[in-house]
Amino acid sequence: MQLHNLYLRGFRNYDEAQADFVPGVNLIVGDNANGKTNLLEAISYLSTGHAFRTRKESELIKFGAEFAELEARLFSQEREQELRAVLFSGRRPRQIFLNGVKQKSAAGISGVLTSVLFCPEDLLILKKGAAPRRKLLDSVLCQMRPNYALALGEYSRILEQKAAVLREAVPSMYVLLPDYNERLVQIGAILISYRARFLQSLAECASQFHREFSGDREMLTMQYKTVSNIDDPFAPLEILRQKLSEHMQSHERAERESAQCLSGPHKDDFEAALNGLPMAQFASQGQTRTATISIKLAERELLKRDTDEEPLLLLDDVLSELDAGRQDFVLNHLRSGQVFITCCETDRLTEIGQVIRIENGSVL
Ligand code: ATP
Ligand code: MG
Repeated sequence: MQLHNLYLRGFRNYDEAQADFVPGVNLIVGDNANGKTNLLEAISYLSTGHAFRTRKESELIKFGAEFAELEARLFSQEREQELRAVLFSGRRPRQIFLNGVKQKSAAGISGVLTSVLFCPEDLLILKKGAAPRRKLLDSVLCQMRPNYALALGEYSRILEQKAAVLREAVPSMYVLLPDYNERLVQIGAILISYRARFLQSLAECASQFHREFSGDREMLTMQYKTVSNIDDPFAPLEILRQKLSEHMQSHERAERESAQCLSGPHKDDFEAALNGLPMAQFASQGQTRTATISIKLAERELLKRDTDEEPLLLLDDVLSELDAGRQDFVLNHLRSGQVFITCCETDRLTEIGQVIRIENGSVL
């Protein structure tokens, strides 16, 4: 997979810009607030159909402009392709085109330009509550396994309906709960089974990267945490269903009293540890950054094994806070596939790739 070039018009602080990329490492260099992250955001938008820093599309359109246009030429799925997105400032929905054909939704471009993104906000994945860790599992699994995406969508829909019944707390509505619970148990077992297997591969691969990263000193482990009475998430679905059902029954009263869905894999999490110490409490900033990068590299590796295409690696501000040894490790692992990396100064990096200079919303 390879991105040849990108054309932007009215996107963030870019009036009109065009950039050509090389197959290996592309260094996006410039002073603060000149548009480096904006450029990565544009690439990522064409990859996923949404922006990673905002849910409001209007923020992506240059102040005062009527619309934004993003266009890319790339090689993937064994052919030359073209992606184009047009975003409008009013209520008009955005349009996405693949090879000139308008797509009904972002699903139409899924797999065309896959990417793995590291941005500074990702450092919270291993530090904060469970939600970002669950999101990490879900987003990679959804990309790799369409059946997982379907199951997760269905689970979320039923969970919302159940939550509404509990919230309204009208006893006559409680007759709906057994049916909801039954379906949540069925689908929940599938989610747990997928997550356990995926986390195992991710942990194996990330741990290897992290070990090299730390010069053999640190052992990264990731342990899946699901519904408390499930001690073996690899057990056959039948057993998972039985356990989930038991757990749900034992929480029935608590769910009604608290008016919340307390039982099920929507609360899943994993615990990352270094040499046995939980990272959330004990990891240093550099260790957190290193482990997060290892997870991202593992994510790329698993996607590559799965699809036979190497996703683009988008690294925003990845090198700050790392000591020289760890910086070298990151840079040495950028030798395969196409990489986009933003940074402020170039002295350490110039030998490894093409430098693209950004100044005040222009590509020089
Ligand atoms: P840093 O090195 O600090 O991370 P950066 O080069 O990554 O900087 P960006 O995040 O790309 O900087 O943002 C550059 C500028 O884009 C910001 O000053 C911001 O005000 C501006 N900007 C963001 N959205 C818009 C918009 N819709 N219209 C015009 N300018 C915008
Ligand atoms: Mg930036």
